Amino acid sequence: MKDKITQIHKEYIPNSKQVFWEFQKEIERINQLSGWLPTEADLESKWFIPAKIALVHSEVSELLEGVRNKDHDNQLEEIADIFIRLFDLCSNMKIYDIPIWIENKIQKNEKRSFKHDGKTV
Ligand SMILES: [Mg+2]
Repeated sequence: MKDKITQIHKEYIPNSKQVFWEFQKEIERINQLSGWLPTEADLESKWFIPAKIALVHSEVSELLEGVRNKDHDNQLEEIADIFIRLFDLCSNMKIYDIPIWIENKIQKNEKRSFKHDGKTV
């Protein structure tokens, strides 16, 4: 199983970086058109980034409801919303190299022990 996952990482991660950057830019473009780009006051507020994080939480909660309701299409939409909110958060935090951080973290996780030394979930 671990070899299969490693192979998937090697095949898809190089291409996924560009896709992630394109998604982030597209989300920024749509936010600009929709009036959701942050104002100077937003950027100066200590609550701006925490509010953006709360919006990620809200999408995660919506996914939980989708699972509880056994609504597969809704689950997929909410997973997409989570990614969209995360890309938006990255843009608002001026993070444009998240694919590299994801790749590094995957590689770090791959080196962890089986079930992380006895964890059950
Ligand atoms: Mg949603």
